[in-house]
This record gives sequence, C-alpha cells and structure tokens, in this order.
Amino acid sequence: MTSSVRRNLDPFLPWPLRHLTESIVRGVNKMTDCIFCRIVNNRARAVIVHQDDQATAFRDIHPVAPTHILIVPNKHIESVNALEAEDEQLMGRLFRVARQLAAQEGIAENGYRLIINTGAYGGQTIPHLHIHLIGGKPMRYPMG
Ligand code: 5GP
Ligand code: ZN
Repeated sequence: MTSSVRRNLDPFLPWPLRHLTESIVRGVNKMTDCIFCRIVNNRARAVIVHQDDQATAFRDIHPVAPTHILIVPNKHIESVNALEAEDEQLMGRLFRVARQLAAQEGIAENGYRLIINTGAYGGQTIPHLHIHLIGGKPMRYPMG
C-alpha cells in the first residue's frame, strides 16, 4: 500500500522529496519486519513487564534462568554497533530499567547478569538491540 502510493507519486516529486519518501518507507519496512518492534508496538504478543516512553521490557520466550527479561529501546536500533551520540541517555534508561526490574524480581541482592550480544560472533540473533537480564540462580563460568 505505502509503496504503491509512493510509486504513483514518485514521477511528480522533486528528487529531495523522493529521497525522503524512500527513506521513510525503508524505516517503516524495517519496523514491520522486526519482531521486537512489533512487540513494542503491541502488534505481537509478549509478557510485557515494563514500558515507558523510551524502553520496553518483556520476558524471553526461551528463558535460561528463573528470571530472563529482555530490555529494548522502543526505537529500532540494530545493535550496539549502530548506536549514535544521541542514544547515550537512552542507553542509561535501559540500564536503569534493568536495575529496577532486578529489584522487582527479587534478584538484585544475590546478583544477576546483564548481556548485550552484538553481531554474529557475539551470538546476536534478533537485530534489535536488547539487554538480557538473567538471574535467580548462580551463573556459570567461563563465559565465551
Ligand atoms: P540474542 O540471541 O539476539 O541475544 O537474543 C534474542 C533473544 O530473543 C533470545 O533469547 C530468544 O529466546 C528471544 N526471542 C526470540 N524471539 C522472541 C519472541 O518472539 N518473543 C520473545 N519474548 N522473545 C524472543
Ligand atoms: Zn526493531
């Protein structure tokens, strides 16, 4: 729908506007393809445990410990590699939410693990930046 409107309009648009419509369509497509964007926007089901203007947290579908929560930015950021200067405050928010949820889950005192897998070698399978909050049992070593 969006792309057919754009195709019909394109010949009549000056190139800067055409460029703009193309990048908007690219952004919308990325959001509709991304499972975590769909969860953030309430278009896919998940057990959401926190949501605010910048961050959403929900239970991992395949938990590896009694508590396994994913904390994600509401806006689509592919990975740590795609972070920009303007995201500094947002990253602080994600960690603050992680800390609050750890307390809420009763795992703060015993300790927990926060993990951000990044890229193929980092084991990232969903290309929407997320912090794993894992706890409720002693963590295993070594990592990696
Ligand atoms: P990664 O491997 O990218 O660091 O972590 C992705 C995590 O997302 C995995 O732990 C996986 O179980 C979880 N996951 C993948 N798809 C879904 C989903 O549709 N819903 C939820 N709640 N978690 C998901
Ligand atoms: Zn996304």
